Amino acid sequence: MMNIEKIELSTLIAGPCSAESQEQVLECARSLAGQGVKVFRAGVWKPRTRPGNFEGAGDKALEWLKAVKSETGMAVTTEVANARHVEAALKAGIDMLWIGARTTTSPFAVQEVADALRGTDIPVLVKNPINAELELWIGAFERLAGAGIKRLAAIHRGFSSYYERIYRYSPEWQIPIELRRRIPGIQVICDPSHMAGRSDLVPLLAQMALDMKADGLFIEVHPDPAKALSDQKQQLTPQQFREMTSKLVYHRETKPADQKQMQPLRNRLDDIDLQLIQDLADRFRVTERIGEYKKDHNLAILQSDRYKAISDTLTGKGKELGLDEDFIRLLFETIHAESIRCQINKKNTI
Ligand code: PEP
Ligand code: MN
Repeated sequence: MMNIEKIELSTLIAGPCSAESQEQVLECARSLAGQGVKVFRAGVWKPRTRPGNFEGAGDKALEWLKAVKSETGMAVTTEVANARHVEAALKAGIDMLWIGARTTTSPFAVQEVADALRGTDIPVLVKNPINAELELWIGAFERLAGAGIKRLAAIHRGFSSYYERIYRYSPEWQIPIELRRRIPGIQVICDPSHMAGRSDLVPLLAQMALDMKADGLFIEVHPDPAKALSDQKQQLTPQQFREMTSKLVYHRETKPADQKQMQPLRNRLDDIDLQLIQDLADRFRVTERIGEYKKDHNLAILQSDRYKAISDTLTGKGKELGLDEDFIRLLFETIHAESIRCQINKKNTI
């Protein structure tokens, strides 16, 4: 069990992708102070997927963040990826650090950062690894906790996928849900900017994140996104940021009275779920009998034509009933895969 303490977080952490100049950083900070933003973000060292892009202003940008702190009173945070970054950021009095998605994928780099942090009590936010590998994310928390860092929180920034999707990085909401289950009490902040990759989708994802109980939002804002040196397409203008925050719906705590109101519906769900399990068990018993027939009569287990016909009929029926086509297809792919597995097992054990 990891010893994790809550970080004093305001809901909103915002600022430019990269600190580009003192003017840009201060202009951005002035537009955010007083907008409910208590922590200002800006990348000083930028890990770029391909070489030749802007790699951050480097150490001198730490001075700009110090200026933000003294002028606006906001706390400041930046990304660190190695021991030298950590030393420079600590020396500059940066209030909070984050580990980037590319760094979380590298146990050597995370360990180096953790070792450099040993003996400090600075809060650290850990972005999910760029690939959908929960164990790497958990491993990073373990390495930091192992170095004595107690105030830790997660940033959910989405996962890369090979295929072009609507979002730049796919949310895979089930992964942070599982993270919360594996590290009870961990705060999860959502970064809809990197998820979306497009400024127009940021408000939608920000609201979805709040609906999924995000503990905070981590948003990229630039005074003039079109001129940004990194992540141009996804940064909001201060005006867009204001519009978004004025529309976000924050949910209140669920009270016992709400639980009571929802209980009859929940009871119905429980009955339906039990029935689903019963039906699945019956279904697999039938599957087994078919498996025995196939074995006795020397037939192949996989009957592709039949599977395609069933899948089409069921997705059609599902659609008629208002169910999502992809969901039904996936559900029956899973059930069918399990049927095949049962029949293969049966064949090999008899
Ligand atoms: C960032 O927050 O600007 C950043 C580099 O993010 P990520 O590590 O999620 O790509
Ligand atoms: Mn960025």
